[in-house]
Amino acid sequence: MHSRRLLSASARGLLFLTFIGQTIGLLTLRSAAAQPNLIVIFCDDLGYGDLSCFGHPSIRTPELDRMASEGMRWLQFYSAAPVCTPSRAALMTGRLPLRNGMCSNQRRVLFPDSNGGLPAEEITIAEMLRDAGYRTGCVGKWHLGHLPQYLPTEHGFDSYFGIPYSNDMDRVASAPSGKLAITEPKSEYFNVPLMRDKQEVERPADQTTLTRRYTEEAIRFIKEPSEQPFFLYLAHSMPHVPLFRSSEFADRSRRGLYGDVVEEIDDSVGQILKVLRDEQLSRNTLVVFTSDNGPWLSQADHGGSAGLLREGKGTTWEGGMREPTIMWWPGTIAANQATLELGSTMDLMATFATLAEAELPRDRRLDSYDLTAVLRGSGNSPRETLFYYRAYELMAVRMGPWKLHLQEHGSYGSEPKKLTKLDKPKLYHLEHDPGERYNMASSQPGTVQQIQSLIDLHRADLQPADTLLEH
Ligand code: MG
Repeated sequence: MHSRRLLSASARGLLFLTFIGQTIGLLTLRSAAAQPNLIVIFCDDLGYGDLSCFGHPSIRTPELDRMASEGMRWLQFYSAAPVCTPSRAALMTGRLPLRNGMCSNQRRVLFPDSNGGLPAEEITIAEMLRDAGYRTGCVGKWHLGHLPQYLPTEHGFDSYFGIPYSNDMDRVASAPSGKLAITEPKSEYFNVPLMRDKQEVERPADQTTLTRRYTEEAIRFIKEPSEQPFFLYLAHSMPHVPLFRSSEFADRSRRGLYGDVVEEIDDSVGQILKVLRDEQLSRNTLVVFTSDNGPWLSQADHGGSAGLLREGKGTTWEGGMREPTIMWWPGTIAANQATLELGSTMDLMATFATLAEAELPRDRRLDSYDLTAVLRGSGNSPRETLFYYRAYELMAVRMGPWKLHLQEHGSYGSEPKKLTKLDKPKLYHLEHDPGERYNMASSQPGTVQQIQSLIDLHRADLQPADTLLEH
């Protein structure tokens, strides 16, 4: 007491400030410790039926099966578009692709001669998390613009290693014409660059080693000594055609080449989860495994399988957009869960914002719902609807278990070859009929009407941006 009385007023003030400072410091530390690491493993054209834990009979995926048995399978989880570029834009921004111009009715995706890309004004998951104190790494296929101003390091990622567009693009003149370059692929047929940050480091990329090198890069990123939490976006180039795998995986799978490729991705997932366990990070890391769109069915046995779902890549039938999704976070997600809650890749933005205590963009419309209650087992998904777009065309809408088709378009030459508006929309009950075979519209006029009203509301609130894919 005596000594305290001796303290001058200014010293007391200083002590008080120090106390406040320490409290703020402690709070900041506590908050930083609570920020989990976040990993998204995003496959290219992997089908809903392509993993053993999603029912494939002859592709073996023991690592993904283990991930599922320790975590949660999402049986009704969707990409936001049935092709690469818009699907990736939506994941990155939590927004429907037509809100930011990353889709086109003419050119479905970006190509090596495109001048467009994800606009600088868009706020990506990586930018949001970097602002919240995360270090951020992007490994793999980008496909949101290959020109320097659109690359991952301009969109919130500290580092990038990968190919900037699809692995079948940039075919060289001397490559065999037609399907042969795909059915008997060689890396040198495709003049695809491999990049580190903004530098081309190899061209053509040796595609047989991509999955292995992406994995090594991802592990290096995870192990980087740092006090910061991290966000890793690992977007595999596979199993998009042309299919490549390293020699270690050649001729291993009963499913043939496609099986080899998926089994190498499975092994990659196993390596990543092992590093997280070894580094004692598993209880503080959420890993999300999913795919950008459904299987490319017209590639015959070089394409994957949507299992019991109808159609595949390029369409808004379930096979085009429902993805085999697993989320893993030991200690937070209970083991061996299979959920029928609705989710979308667009929801990762709001979910990650909650987990990272990050600030969601407030100056624009998001299409992102926070799924953390489902992960923690404390509640249902706030997502009750899905809007299935083919570029700017609203093709179908899901509300609860019901899905109403308004228009149809086949994929890659399948029927109907043109956009066809249905005189009478078709209604399917996706939980009774996941294969979309039995049109219930005539016996459920009330449900059709309800979904029509939902569409009116959705449209009233929608301001599509001009396409950036046709420049
Ligand atoms: Mg794809």
